[in-house]
Amino acid sequence: MVKKTFSVVLGSIGVVLAVMALLFCASVWEGRTLLQPMTPLVQNAVKTAPGIEAAREKSSAVIGRQTDPVHVDQAGLLASNTTKKAAPVSPKTVYLTFDDGPSDLTGQVLDILKKNKIGATFFVLGEQVKKYPQLISRIYEEGHAIGNHTYDHNYTELYQSFPAFWDQIKETEEEIHLITGERPQLVRAPGGTAGHFDDTYFKLLQQAGYVVTDWNVDSGDSKRRDVPAAEIVKGATTDVPGGKVVLLMHDGPGHSESVKALPQIISWYKARGYQFGVLSPQDPPVQFKVNATARGLKRSAPSAAWIQSHIAQNAALFEPGKPLRLDVGGLETTLDTGEYSIVDGHYMVPLRALTERIGGNTVWDSAGAAWVASLSADAAVSLRIHADTGRLEAVEGNQVVSRETLQVLTVNGSLWVPLRSLFEASGYAGITASVNEEERRVTVF
Ligand SMILES: [Zn+2]
Repeated sequence: MVKKTFSVVLGSIGVVLAVMALLFCASVWEGRTLLQPMTPLVQNAVKTAPGIEAAREKSSAVIGRQTDPVHVDQAGLLASNTTKKAAPVSPKTVYLTFDDGPSDLTGQVLDILKKNKIGATFFVLGEQVKKYPQLISRIYEEGHAIGNHTYDHNYTELYQSFPAFWDQIKETEEEIHLITGERPQLVRAPGGTAGHFDDTYFKLLQQAGYVVTDWNVDSGDSKRRDVPAAEIVKGATTDVPGGKVVLLMHDGPGHSESVKALPQIISWYKARGYQFGVLSPQDPPVQFKVNATARGLKRSAPSAAWIQSHIAQNAALFEPGKPLRLDVGGLETTLDTGEYSIVDGHYMVPLRALTERIGGNTVWDSAGAAWVASLSADAAVSLRIHADTGRLEAVEGNQVVSRETLQVLTVNGSLWVPLRSLFEASGYAGITASVNEEERRVTVF
């Protein structure tokens, strides 16, 4: 394969960029444009001055790899467990997972996770996503993983036929994509796959690019109504052979006892030397085996025509994007796919999340009705940005030292701004950008 690398010194070769833009604009969204019309993320754009010109490339057509699942029995999980030997040096990891949210309890869960500086995975319901879009935004911005738990959790409908299950996955995916710009690849079956999924469910979801994830420790917080916190703590705290705990909990309506139990559960795992992980579609998922109950359901498999029109092209949605490596004066941070976007050839980044990652901060000034951002703790210049108009003022001391109007996006309350403008207005001398087969790179100096 021919390796294509473009190095671009920004701001100085506009003509070349314009030609390159014409050549490569169709591939900027990693091929997604063909399958997915531009979302409201882009429609909200304020037309203004150009931001950073993203280095461009041909998209590669590699489909995301799937790893072999680790099969477990639903009963006797701890005894049977994995078929693979864990590497002896790998640290013990617990993956906290929360199903059925978001709800009015999710904010408390996020506060607890933040206080403990740990990540978790939220398997959300489409109907709850519609009710609490701001919580999806927050889950996403705070670095947790979002998985798909179907739209309404209705077993009768979901397990009567695969197309019914599929429709709910896609509907929920659209709701999440509208908010985060990303499509969750992780799927968790309501009630778990045991007794529900047959080989068709597993096979078609995998073919479509999804990774089905069960659990190997059940906190027991949904075995009946109002399970008390102490009982949840007891159920949730246990070692498993191999040291990889995928813990099932719930943050849906009515699960306040789970929230109450959470700090103790975290403390227990911390005390035993566990790391806290966020599930990734790249890791081998825990999956229950197909059992006799599921096989006995005798559902008819979808037709070849249905599979062709629904499943065949879906995996292309998950072609791997490239991370954006941002080097600011020698300090490097990485923005993964979905944590940045490219609009009209310019890198757009979430203002608050980015400034926090590079050691600065962003606060809302309600009196001035603007976001105030600093790119480092000791920055001489602070930026006041008005989300509605994109108006930016760079302030040094009490003096406004420059003004411009940015192309900005508002994604459910989060302000996204052009990367280049952010650094230029803050007084950085220059920016270069490049892209190769593995990554995009922006260096600020
Ligand atoms: Zn559930």
